[in-house]
Amino acid sequence: MTTPLQRASDQANSVLSKESASSSSVNSGTDHYAEKLLSKYYDGVIGLNNDGTISFINKIACKILGCTPKEIKDQPLEKVFQFYNEVIEHPYIKIINNIIESGNVFGPITHHRITTKKKNDILVDFSISPLDENTVILMFHKLTTHQQPRPLLYQFSHDPLTRLANRNTLQQSIHHLHEDYKKTGKTYSVLLLDIDRFKLINDNYGHNIGDQLLQLVAERMQFFIRDKDNIGRWGGEEFLCILPDVGINTASEIAERLCQGIAKNNFFLQEHKIPITASIGISNFPNDGDTPEELFSVADSTLHQAKQNGRNRIHSTQQLTDNIYSIGTQLENALNENRVTPVYQPIFDLASGKQVAEEALARIQNKNGELIEASEFIDAAVELQLVHRVDYQIIKKTIVRCTESFKDKKCSTPHFVNVSADLLRHPQLVKEIIQFASEKYEECGQNNCNEKPIVIEITEQELFADMDEVKKILAPFIDFGMPLAIDDFGSGYSSLTYLADLPISYLKFDGDLIKRVAYEDRARKIIYGVQKMAESLELITIAEHIEDQATLDVLRELGVSWGQGYFSAMPAE
Ligand code: GH3
Ligand code: MG
Ligand code: MG
Repeated sequence: MTTPLQRASDQANSVLSKESASSSSVNSGTDHYAEKLLSKYYDGVIGLNNDGTISFINKIACKILGCTPKEIKDQPLEKVFQFYNEVIEHPYIKIINNIIESGNVFGPITHHRITTKKKNDILVDFSISPLDENTVILMFHKLTTHQQPRPLLYQFSHDPLTRLANRNTLQQSIHHLHEDYKKTGKTYSVLLLDIDRFKLINDNYGHNIGDQLLQLVAERMQFFIRDKDNIGRWGGEEFLCILPDVGINTASEIAERLCQGIAKNNFFLQEHKIPITASIGISNFPNDGDTPEELFSVADSTLHQAKQNGRNRIHSTQQLTDNIYSIGTQLENALNENRVTPVYQPIFDLASGKQVAEEALARIQNKNGELIEASEFIDAAVELQLVHRVDYQIIKKTIVRCTESFKDKKCSTPHFVNVSADLLRHPQLVKEIIQFASEKYEECGQNNCNEKPIVIEITEQELFADMDEVKKILAPFIDFGMPLAIDDFGSGYSSLTYLADLPISYLKFDGDLIKRVAYEDRARKIIYGVQKMAESLELITIAEHIEDQATLDVLRELGVSWGQGYFSAMPAE
């Protein structure tokens, strides 16, 4: 039966042989460097089955023990690594099975004499830790002479807790690798792994167990990478792996394997069974940056994405692009099939509590009839330049709703619609919207009234710098009698000029400012100041994102005219 460990190491080795085959002729200098670094500083790692046979052995272990991976695979451990019986009381197979059953780590045992394949006696420090129901990991390093501590260089370059390379060493390794790989045009990838919710583990089990867990995670990680990869402790509960000759797809495979290898089997410590998951951010040279620093930074932000998307997962910029294209396809289909649909969020008068208007918000209706929020597709819409088509459909549907209301009730409250810079860059579509509106208002006998109850919301940041140009672009809406609202007021720079030069009727405060108004004195003072200015210009002010009673109370007190948000009412079809 193949154990998960065997599978992992087999996969790692197959990746290794594939990639070393393709890269062996190029730049042996780097491989030599990596090998030198490895053999100097890293531990021997051996995977043992519960019958004491070897399922995996890394290069360092082979070097110390004088064997090759091929000749020793599936052989009993004692062929290359014989324990001294006066220290190990039981046959090691019994120890292995005890470790598997109890889940506890054996060791670390220091200054233990072992006999190698070549019948040499050497001194090692070692520990054995469980991996799964069939396998343990034996990690060891050789001491050169009796009682000799690790050399000073080792202490400077390694993290004492996990015995992995420290941040400084990793940075040196990557710079070295980078210089070579840049010259020869080869690729490499970086994985940044962060343990999920590690603070909770410390809080629950204590810092001591937290420390031991970091050691176990460090040990386990080494099974899922290849000999020539560099792994180290980046800081806290973050580990970094440098994967030479690995493109983004293989890096994702290795990261996925690591992620599963950590999550799949619990860690056992002092009778506690502790499940752990980790998130991994991936970056690749040359896809994601030109310098090691850029790659660290991209790995950091893709790690952040992995956390945000729910943890226990991997993330790369490739996925980001994939996501954009997959949601982009959904959006495009929805646009073609007329499934981009508005929901309407009520807007209330804050003094009276009465509904006075509504804002149309875009949603995709998927084929099951469920609605997809704009936040899920807006980035893709911007990236793929589809925003104008979204606006176009939403505005036309809102015009229909508004004119239907005239037919039913002989009146209509204002309907706010969002108009993006992307739509404004399509004058033909603007013309079509006005033409459509004109026909619809004609049908209900309202085409001649001066002010139509469709309010055009423009985001100040989206407007163009040249005011004459802005006026020209907005003219069709203004001439038709659609009032203007400035959205997200306070988030850009030139809003005051717009207020002076354009016939603005409504001012909507920036939502981030509203979220802070009940809790931060400065935010409250800013809203107060803008409110006074708006009053003197006879503008109606609107606060979006009202999410609690405290915010609502403060806004009322400040005299803000209208408000909307999940606290007052959810948007509805
Ligand atoms: P997230 O999923 O967002 O990463 O949550 P988290 O709790 O893992 O992240 P956060 O950054 O909030 O907390 C990291 C914790 O890791 C807090 C810190 O005390 C702990 N930690 C960092 N270094 C060590 C260490 O050497 N030993 C122990 N026991 N804990 C450590
Ligand atoms: Mg962290
Ligand atoms: Mg963490």
